[in-house]
Amino acid sequence: MSPVLHAHADAVVVGGGVIGAAIAHRLALAGLGRIVLCDQGRVSAQGATSRSGGLLRLHHTSAADTRLAARSLPVFEQWADVIGGDCGYRRTGFVMIVGEEHADGLRQNAAAASDAAGYRRTEVVDAAELKALYPGLRTEGVGLAAYEPEGGYADPLAATAALLGAAYRLGVSPSEGIRAVKVLERAGTVTGVLTSIGRIDSPLVVLAGGAWGSAPAEYLGIHIPVTARRIGLAQAELPGAGRRGSAASVPTCIDDTTGSYFRPDGLDRFYFGVPSKPDTELGRDVEPLTESELEAAIAAVAHRVPAAAAAPLAGTRSGLDGYTPDKRPVVGAAGPDGLYLALGFSGGGFKLAPAVAELAALEITEGGAVPGKAVQQLLEPYRPQRFLAGHPIRPEAPYDHM
Ligand SMILES: Cc1cc2nc3c(=O)[nH]c(=O)nc-3n(C[C@H](O)[C@H](O)[C@H](O)COP(=O)(O)OP(=O)(O)OC[C@H]3O[C@@H](n4cnc5c(N)ncnc54)[C@H](O)[C@@H]3O)c2cc1C
Repeated sequence: MSPVLHAHADAVVVGGGVIGAAIAHRLALAGLGRIVLCDQGRVSAQGATSRSGGLLRLHHTSAADTRLAARSLPVFEQWADVIGGDCGYRRTGFVMIVGEEHADGLRQNAAAASDAAGYRRTEVVDAAELKALYPGLRTEGVGLAAYEPEGGYADPLAATAALLGAAYRLGVSPSEGIRAVKVLERAGTVTGVLTSIGRIDSPLVVLAGGAWGSAPAEYLGIHIPVTARRIGLAQAELPGAGRRGSAASVPTCIDDTTGSYFRPDGLDRFYFGVPSKPDTELGRDVEPLTESELEAAIAAVAHRVPAAAAAPLAGTRSGLDGYTPDKRPVVGAAGPDGLYLALGFSGGGFKLAPAVAELAALEITEGGAVPGKAVQQLLEPYRPQRFLAGHPIRPEAPYDHM
């Protein structure tokens, strides 16, 4: 006898990373009915989310991204009240460092962050002011920096577990170890999804499967240009890194002059980024970081945090995220009625998840984008159709690495 899956759902969300979990939660809050959240592995543990550094910042090089980040940050700050539980938010301050040649662009991007975030401050600081704020930083080559006091990091696993918990309390059913193979449609309308162990009938399918996520739509001739990229992080011992006022104190930081990023991890450790590897094969296991990759990353980060050169390593992480050609996500309806995509977060989806989920759920439950509705316009730049139409997102004030 063949196995029988849920006979019917009002919505199937494919992908139990932070994006799928946040969307399932928002759809449940909106009272959508029976929502199935399916993942090919364990929810929250399988994809980019569980490997993520969790950096939180407003500063971006495109105002569209800044607006989503600004709508998301208050959720991380007030997590217990808005979602419930703890997302591990730590306010360390965020600093964006650029060389002299990008000073004007940094001022423009910092102004966009201040505009988008209302009362939250973004200050433009020079090298001496930066050193006073974070003595653990070396400031050679700093042209200008943007300082966001409320920036920092959260714990992506804890945040996703909290979102899942909130969704389950509202009746969302998790289905683990089930791969969505193909979105099903009849006469231009979604009828469900065929999975590795049977079919789920549903008028709504949300594809939120990260690097793997566009495959179930390919059968409908919908090609979303998302490729997998391996991103790495390393953790090192750095006593005092997270102790504000200590001589070793560092912020959560992106340093465009070296292409590196880092953040404290608790009080005495820190994380730093290891350059990503484009066009990675989509296997089940992600290759661990190699010694030579780590050497290059340590050299880059040690330029800004000299103590990192001799800091003993405590561990590494590597994960796959889906990248689009303009390195911005794809969010919106595509193809038959009832298909919605939230994919390709290109190494930056964690910090945007609360706003993306809120706005996507609003669109879905209102039956599509409502013309002229201001909040929904926040998603307009991210539509799946922009690549075919030749309108990728172009940053207003780009840097060397962003
Ligand atoms: C090392 C690293 C560091 C990062 N640092 C940051 C950071 O500092 N700040 C930040 O904002 N972002 C960061 N990111 C990026 C961020 O983590 C991702 O953009 C975000 O987690 C993407 O979430 P997601 O839910 O779209 O995808 P994922 O977390 O990858 O989840 C997708 C899920 O969908 C499931 N799935 C896929 N296809 C199917 C299918 N057909 N059927 C069933 N299940 C399916 C997968 O098993 C997976 O569980 C980092 C990423 C990595 C890897």
